[in-house]
Amino acid sequence: PAAAAAPLDLDGNSVAPLTICMIGAGGFIGSHLCEKLMAETRHVVLAVDVYCDKIRHLVDPAPPHLAGRISFHRLNIKNDSRLEGLIKMADLTINLAAICTPADYNTRPLDTIYSNFIDALPVVKYCSENSKRLIHFSTCEVYGKTIGSFLPKDHPLRKEPEFYVLKEDESPCIFGPIVKQRWSYACAKQLIERLIFAEGAENGLEFTIVRPFNWIGPRMDFIPGVDGPSEGVPRVLACFSNNLLRREPLKLVDGGQSQRTFVYIKDAIEAVVLMIENPARANGHIFNVGNPDNEVTVRELAQMMTEVYANVSGEAPLDEPMIDVSSSQFYGEGYDDSDKRIPDMTIINKQLGWNPKTPLKDLLETTLTYQHKTYKEAVKRQMSQASAT
Ligand code: UDP
Repeated sequence: PAAAAAPLDLDGNSVAPLTICMIGAGGFIGSHLCEKLMAETRHVVLAVDVYCDKIRHLVDPAPPHLAGRISFHRLNIKNDSRLEGLIKMADLTINLAAICTPADYNTRPLDTIYSNFIDALPVVKYCSENSKRLIHFSTCEVYGKTIGSFLPKDHPLRKEPEFYVLKEDESPCIFGPIVKQRWSYACAKQLIERLIFAEGAENGLEFTIVRPFNWIGPRMDFIPGVDGPSEGVPRVLACFSNNLLRREPLKLVDGGQSQRTFVYIKDAIEAVVLMIENPARANGHIFNVGNPDNEVTVRELAQMMTEVYANVSGEAPLDEPMIDVSSSQFYGEGYDDSDKRIPDMTIINKQLGWNPKTPLKDLLETTLTYQHKTYKEAVKRQMSQASAT
């Protein structure tokens, strides 16, 4: 049979198979990226993480058709001399490892700062010293609050895009005071972005920085008491899923008025593959990756998830599907919030031609179908055990 045509990049050049050192490959984003790279490319992945539950189907053991394509390296980048060897062996390093759940930012600010800044330093250093390309995962939280959030509530300028659209190379980073420890995460991420940018400017590091805007889908975070600690607080998709699975009201923090744009993980992963395969278009850039068309308030998200889950599970919604909680009750002291997150898509559009596709309703249907199938029985078992003891 004729050999399959070599895959092409956006400029029509063939894409050579790369070896990719993926740090944090066992997390939500890493697991989807590994699956995509295995299914649709010829790249080789050195998957680095402290656990592999979410990629067990790919690495433990690797299925025969993936032999030689993916290997798992269980190590903590904090203190393992094997890290530099793996980075040297690879053409490209992707760093996804970090604490990135808001419940930790104000309650474990030291771990948050160490994980997002200090632990990322050797990765940047090894890439720079060995002239290896780096794709570093940052966050939309580096933008902090919108300029408009400082205007009076009903001020007409709040409706003007210049007062809220977040642009990679133009918008300022606006954080709250130090006592609001929520911003420990954003601040650590901002400093590592600045360091990577400086390595590019002064030492020629080839880098790409990704700012995810609320990527969501199957395998995100954990369901407390099932595959994570029962007192743990994951991000909103998993919190609301957990409430729906347990038939508890969804908790709206401080009225649920904050706005978010949610993008389907599978759409976002396509943007990452474009970055991997088009270095000349991606190097030196910071990219927003989100879906500006999928904006809702947290209250609207709760409403939609309640409706979608009722369809998916066949269970009627509760009479009171939502309750209000204060942020100090829910997250503790030092919590603060980003008011609104609309990503500007100009740069990623121009450089990579990428656009998100999946409407919020569709991605919630897929995701809640997965949540129901994966967790319903386990949650039932856990609830009956808890009530027995
Ligand atoms: N939130 C909420 N109830 C929950 C969990 C989160 O109202 O059970 C809110 C939270 O205060 C924030 C938004 O949902 O305004 C998104 O929170 P998430 O943890 O997903 O991360 P963020 O987008 O803030 O990084």
